Amino acid sequence: MSVKSKLKMKIHKRDGFRCHYCGKKFIYSELHVDHMYPRSKDRRDKIENLVTACIKCNTTKSDSTPEEFLLRSYRKHKELQEKRDKSRTQLQYDKLSIQIEYFRNIIENLSSEPE
Ligand SMILES: [Zn+2]
Repeated sequence: MSVKSKLKMKIHKRDGFRCHYCGKKFIYSELHVDHMYPRSKDRRDKIENLVTACIKCNTTKSDSTPEEFLLRSYRKHKELQEKRDKSRTQLQYDKLSIQIEYFRNIIENLSSEPE
């Protein structure tokens, strides 16, 4: 095992093979070592700055700080939630419109019936 993969294994073991960002568990080959603060020269390669990250989180995080990454994820999550709520409201509105149309037809038929 090379020094690099020894260090990778050490970090994944320390973190219990869990991604530091999404908290999900992965197997060794699905994990990366992430530099939490990639732009900070004085702490960049310190072991406290190295964490386990899944491929998806590591790719999305890129070279942003954990704070920037979490804020971005939070905003995206909120945006998706708003979109979902909007489409749910639209769906309820559509259902209601169909019901109204249905009752309107009944009423029209009733009133047009000869006495
Ligand atoms: Zn993750």
